[in-house]
This record gives sequence, structure tokens and C-alpha cells, in this order.
Amino acid sequence: MNMKRFYIIPFIILTFFLTSFSINMTSDDNDGKFVVVLDAGHGGHDPGNLGNGYLEKNIALKIVLKVGEILERNPNIKVIYTRKDDTFVDLYRRGEIANKANADLFVSVHCDSHSSDAHGAGTFVLGLHANKQNFEIAKKENSVIYLEDNYESRYAAYDINSPESIIGLTIMQEEFLDQSINLAKLMQDNFSNKLKRTDRKVKQAGFIVLHQTFMPSVLVETGFLTNKVEGAYLNSTKGHNEMGKAIADAILTYKGEMISGAEEIALNNTPVATEPKQEEIEKSEPNTGGKKSEQLVLEQKPVKNIPKTVLVVKNETDNTTKELVKEPIGKEEPKVVEKEPKKSENIIFKVQIFASSKNIPLDSENFKGLNTLSKEPYKNLYRYMYGNTDSHFQATLLKSNADAKGYNTSYIVAYKDGVRISETEALKYVSE
Ligand SMILES: [Zn+2]
Repeated sequence: MNMKRFYIIPFIILTFFLTSFSINMTSDDNDGKFVVVLDAGHGGHDPGNLGNGYLEKNIALKIVLKVGEILERNPNIKVIYTRKDDTFVDLYRRGEIANKANADLFVSVHCDSHSSDAHGAGTFVLGLHANKQNFEIAKKENSVIYLEDNYESRYAAYDINSPESIIGLTIMQEEFLDQSINLAKLMQDNFSNKLKRTDRKVKQAGFIVLHQTFMPSVLVETGFLTNKVEGAYLNSTKGHNEMGKAIADAILTYKGEMISGAEEIALNNTPVATEPKQEEIEKSEPNTGGKKSEQLVLEQKPVKNIPKTVLVVKNETDNTTKELVKEPIGKEEPKVVEKEPKKSENIIFKVQIFASSKNIPLDSENFKGLNTLSKEPYKNLYRYMYGNTDSHFQATLLKSNADAKGYNTSYIVAYKDGVRISETEALKYVSE
């Protein structure tokens, strides 16, 4: 009798550990499906813009429901909505829904407004806005936070009136910038080629809703309700169906390209860096019906291995140019939020040198002589990191060393209690 119990107890303990382990490892119940979070802007007591008497919240919802209806026909896609009816959803909740679902894509749908007869559809990814107009669009959409309870503490890190504050905010989405731009381009292609809509291009601006997500994310401004013709189109069933289909088709193409791309990488023997690159995504100022006085060209100049973003501003009236140099994000000292006292937490910094679908042994010779290597699976890739330090200053030295070895697209990543957080967030906890 006693002997029997002696054997049973360790067996129960072992079973418990194995069960809890397997639960932890498969915390998302997506069954290998491609998860798309669809976010209809505004809702409830936030109507969005009211151009020509139309309601942005209703149009955004109808387009989103159409997108979802098409995507749901594909058994390999799981669609999650931030709202399916006329309810108010806090901005931070929208990103949270996507993050908790471990989504592959986040797509937010809105309509624009302007005092001119501006028209056309544009798609935004998170980033430093190239001009004041893009900033104003983001500011308008961001202002919905004022309709939320406790917005002061919830959004303390954001200063929506300061164009500069976005520089420190772009870090989290940087990793997904290439993919976000790819999806945005596919959407713009469909809008302009299939629907003959005016192409307002892929643009970058500081949308809070895009900053909250940990996956490729875009925000579609489907058109201007303030424009008579466009407002009527977007408010019509034809408009909802066509825009819904154009967005859904772009998502399906993106999904197809991503899968074939992953297979290609797997066939390749050499590690493939998938870090985002700053690229020229907006060549001309969008048409607002007004006069173009300045042409903004975004280019990148490598200086001592550290890329600097140089904005060349050309004044067409006197034909002079001036250069505005932006220091790279990594060198920018992120803003410390006063409301959160500095605490000594378990914060670790590493330098991510690249990501690859290949599972590479962590030997120094595979990484140009670097040591203290680590890797972690992420989606269908492995992230490879160099170094391990609780000092942010030390991390900047590690980053310089990685640059010197040729990994000049590497960047500092941070962890709190083993969970990856943004560098900005981590800096709140360290006193340097
Ligand atoms: Zn909106």
C-alpha cells in the first residue's frame, strides 16, 4: 500500500509540471491560423469626423465588417474585431486586444477630413511624420484619448502636441516597419489601380493606436468625408463593399507573400537580416488642393556606421535648400516620464543583431566573433541577440561593437523580468 503511494505521488507531481508547462507553451489558441485584428475607428460617444454630416464611426465599422466577412471565408484566417457594433473602445484597449490575441496583423480603418476639398485614400505606418500635414492627421486621430477616463495617467508618455515626442515613440514598431510598409503598399495599389481612387501614398505618422501593438500594423484613411463626392461614395454600400474588398485582398496577398517569403528564407543557407530599413516611402506632398511650396525628400546618410536621417527641405520659391539632420533613434535620450518613480527592477539590455528563420547554433564563429549570444523564437523566426547587461550605457557600447563587426542594423532591446519591453519603457526603471 505504502509502496504504491510512494510511486504515485511523484507521478502526480510530474504530470502537474508537464501539464502546466504545455499550457504555458501554447498560451495562444490560434491553432496556427493567421490572426488579423480589424479595428474600426471611433464608436459610441466618439463619432469621429462628421464631414458633410456623415459619421466616420459608422463608415469605418461598415468597411471593417466587409473586410472581416471576406477574410472569414478563408479557414486559415482568424478575424478579431476591436468592435463589431457602435460602442466606444479606449485607444489603449485596441492595441491590447491585438497583443493578447498574438495577432499577425493589426489594421485600423478611419476616414479623414479637411477644410479644403482634399480627396483620396492613404495608408499610414507608425513613424516620424515627414511633414506637418501628416502630423496633423495623427494629432486629430490621437485626440480621441481625451474622451477616455484617466487619459492623463494612461497616456502620460505621449505629448500629442509635440511633433518631436514621436521620435522616442517609434522604437516598438521599428521591428515591423518593413512588413507594415509592404501591407500598406498593397492596400494603396488596390485603392489606386483597382478602384481608381486618388493615391495619397504610404506615409508615416505618430498614431498612438499603432504605437501600442507588437505586430505589423497599418492605419487606413479611406478618404475624406469633407469632400462631397468622396463622402457620398464612402457612405454608400458600394463604397463599403469596394473599400472592404480592396483592404481584404491586400491582406490576403500579404499573407500569401509572407508564407512564400518564409519558405524562401528557409531554403537560404545564410542568415537573413530582417531588420527594418528606413526607406523613402513618400516622394511628394499629398494633394490638398493647395499650392506646393516645399518638397520634402527623406534620405539616409551613413555616418560612421550610424545612419542619420537627413531631411532635405527645398524651397521652390527661391530655390534654396536646407538640411535638417535627425540623430538616429538609438542616440536620442528618450523622455523620462515624471509620474513614474524610478525603481530598481529586473531590467536587462541586449543588442538584437538579426532575425532569421534558420536555427543557428550560438557559436562565436557564426556571429563574426561576437560572444554572449542568445536566441529566442518569435513567430516563424529566431531573434539573435548579443550581450546581456543591466546597464543601458553598457548596451550602447555593445551596440557600437556589433556595428564595428558589420551588424550595423542591430539595435538595443530590453527585457523586464524576462519579457521584452521597449527601450523607452526600460529606461524608466534604470537610473543612468
Ligand atoms: Zn478617425
